[in-house]
Amino acid sequence: MGKTTRRAILKQTSLAGSLVCALDSASQELLLAQTPPEPRYDLLIRGGRVIDPSQKLSAERDIGIVGQKIAAILPQIAEREARQTLDARGKIVTPGLIDIHAHVYDGVAPLCIPADANSIAKGVTTVVDAGSSGAHTFPGFKKYVINVVDTRVYALLNISVVGQSTLSNDVPWGELLDLRYANPRVAIKTIEQNRDVILGVKIRLTNNIAGDHDLEALKLAREAADAVKLPIMVHIGGTHAKIEDIVAMLKKGDVITHSFRGDPGGILDSRGRVIPEVRKAVENGVHLDIGHGAGSFSFDTAEKALRQGVTPGTISSDVHQSNYNGPVFDLATTLSKFLYLGMSLEDVIARATSNAAATFAFPLGLGTLRVGSLADVAVFALNEGNFTFVDSVHATRVGHHKLTPVATVKAGRIYGSASIPVAV
Ligand SMILES: [Zn+2]
Repeated sequence: MGKTTRRAILKQTSLAGSLVCALDSASQELLLAQTPPEPRYDLLIRGGRVIDPSQKLSAERDIGIVGQKIAAILPQIAEREARQTLDARGKIVTPGLIDIHAHVYDGVAPLCIPADANSIAKGVTTVVDAGSSGAHTFPGFKKYVINVVDTRVYALLNISVVGQSTLSNDVPWGELLDLRYANPRVAIKTIEQNRDVILGVKIRLTNNIAGDHDLEALKLAREAADAVKLPIMVHIGGTHAKIEDIVAMLKKGDVITHSFRGDPGGILDSRGRVIPEVRKAVENGVHLDIGHGAGSFSFDTAEKALRQGVTPGTISSDVHQSNYNGPVFDLATTLSKFLYLGMSLEDVIARATSNAAATFAFPLGLGTLRVGSLADVAVFALNEGNFTFVDSVHATRVGHHKLTPVATVKAGRIYGSASIPVAV
């Protein structure tokens, strides 16, 4: 081509400006075709029926996760857009379950069980330990459980400083028989120092736990809860005081657990009608929680209450040593009992996700799959067949649907998934 002057090059470039641009974009496309794009998502949960009551969603969706957060929830996301895919076709996908009544101070309160094997391995990403620890034993609970386990654990602080450390199957004497252990001042101090993980006050009022001074104990719990502006969870049943007098001391936002238990001390009168004072408390914003437990859920009560239009705000397991091998097993089995009782899958899931999240002031915004929220996700099989469910008084019912946990994702990380293939 001979000698090219600078001026000539400039002239050529300016004349060929549009051509240069065209060449650039063509070569860029060529490059893109040769180099596969970086996957947009770290994890894709693909093809499941997503039930997220927080956004009234119940449809097939793909969920894209980046880091610890939900990045997209769309009708379809291509597998090549994710580094890892969890195939959830034919499965139910929900926000990670929140069990607001469990006992996981393993090794200290005798009824407690290990958190992870009974929670995160079974679709429960968050548990609220309901009063296993009191002010004296809470520092150990934080150090050896909350800070260590994979399950996200919060606490309701027992108004008794000893928590649930005194009562076992062999020693049936509870934490409030000596009222001097119910100490609002120490409870308040412990809560103020641990507001990131303590979400309320817990009290158990059964006769062998609180004796005949149950209302006095509740007054002390009220004093502590009001001082820190957090709710009380009250365990009812077999109490010295009448339930009418107990609910009279509750306020908006408080929680009655074991609400569908049988006699004595339940929410029904001797003719099976919901006691008016209980109904009034619910209308005033007191939440009914299930807290199934070993002695605290009756199909008969549930059927009568539901027929009278009284539904639980939350469904929790109260899973502990005396029931994790039945009749409770886990939260998913407890939820399945409410499918038997005629509640829709969406309504049942709401009671262990969005409703549970709204019951306490969780600092992270849990119980939802909204874009931007923490990627806590649970995957279940909805098995069909004949399943015999047992309640806490040995009554049985045969249901035809059972939720079986198959995979759990907490903050973007997959836990316990033997039965669902994970493509890497
Ligand atoms: Zn309990």
